[in-house]
Amino acid sequence: MQYIFLSHDVDWRKQGASREHILKRKQRFDKVTINNLGVRNPYYNIPDYMAIEDRYGVKSTFFFRTIYEDGDFSDYEDDIQALINGGWEIGLHSDPKSTNSLEKLAGEKKQLELIANHPIIANRVHYHYTDGCIHIYLHENQRIPNSYSIRENVGFVQKSEKRYSNSYLAR
Ligand SMILES: [Zn+2]
Repeated sequence: MQYIFLSHDVDWRKQGASREHILKRKQRFDKVTINNLGVRNPYYNIPDYMAIEDRYGVKSTFFFRTIYEDGDFSDYEDDIQALINGGWEIGLHSDPKSTNSLEKLAGEKKQLELIANHPIIANRVHYHYTDGCIHIYLHENQRIPNSYSIRENVGFVQKSEKRYSNSYLAR
């Protein structure tokens, strides 16, 4: 049996990236997307992904941040509710500054659970700065991945990170 873990990182506030940010990276987008910038935010596509996944009979995990640059994660409340009601999973796309702080990570988890009105057990760190590998710390002669043990203490069951541009399920 082969399992496929399908997920999306919701990296931007609901309003998306600024026009300036997009135009600086114009080559990433097709002409129609650039021409329609005034009427369609290319970064907001949750309903599109829901429709695509419905068509293929799959349900993914959407990882939301609680800290967005120039934005508020509660803007996503309706999307989060629609996803949960439709059977999708919501995970926390935690802030890099929360990686090694039980308190900060628990706070982010709680905030997202309040909006979702649902337990959050999946976690992926936004920009996991680990120079390509998970930092290993020595604790009582055991090699324990520090950020991983913290996340278990906060109650995350599923932890996944992007690494070498591939997503993988860490557990
Ligand atoms: Zn991210």
